[in-house]
Amino acid sequence: MESMGFIREIDKMGRIVIPKEVRDALHIQDKDKYEITVEGEEIILRKFSKKCVFCGTEKNLKDFNGKSICPDCASKISELQRCKSW
Ligand SMILES: [Zn+2]
Repeated sequence: MESMGFIREIDKMGRIVIPKEVRDALHIQDKDKYEITVEGEEIILRKFSKKCVFCGTEKNLKDFNGKSICPDCASKISELQRCKSW
């Protein structure tokens, strides 16, 4: 994507509007969730998607104590539990 430069003011509530041109270009829709991270002095917005906490896959996830886990990792953990050295 071509670089886009916009200047926006943050309001009293700390909100900032993502320009419509950017939302359209990135297909950002109402109610989409974004993860906010800080790297140095830069604020990074990434589309939020659930991922397995161990391998990062986004498929067939199940919730476990508020975290997401995929069947492969769940199975590996289950195998670990059967290991006698534990
Ligand atoms: Zn996994």
